[in-house]
Formats: sequence, C-alpha cells, structure tokens
Amino acid sequence: MKLLKRKRSNLSAKAQVRYTPIGCRCGGMPTKPERIPGCRDRWLIGCKVKRCYAYNIGQGLADTIQGWNRLSEHLYR
Ligand SMILES: [Zn+2]
Repeated sequence: MKLLKRKRSNLSAKAQVRYTPIGCRCGGMPTKPERIPGCRDRWLIGCKVKRCYAYNIGQGLADTIQGWNRLSEHLYR
C-alpha cells in the first residue's frame, strides 16, 4: 500500500513538470489552462498577447497542454 502511494505521487510530480505550458511562439506568455464551460474535461490555452490569437483546445488538461507546447515549438504556419 505504501509503495503504491509513493509511486503515484512520483508520477504526478513528473507529469506536472512535463505538462507546464511553454511560451507562445510569438514570445508571449500562455494563459492559464481554462476549462470550457458546459464541456466535459475540455480545456483551452491561449496566448496572453491579445492580437496574437494563438490558442489550443483539447480533450483533457494534459493533452491540451501538450498540444499547445507542440504548436509553440513548431512554426508551421
Ligand atoms: Zn502569441
């Protein structure tokens, strides 16, 4: 029981580091992930720069942040 608990907390600490949104490709900061009202586990992360309009919507917080990070790392537009 004790071992299982420790394993779990290690995992979540790792996940937190991994799922931190990185800066926008424009150089701006990302907004706090925001749960979309009326949807189940749907999240939005956007850029704090108003006219930038970069954002990512995804299913599940981790996926949404990962998607945002992918968008921010790769300049494909
Ligand atoms: Zn931006």
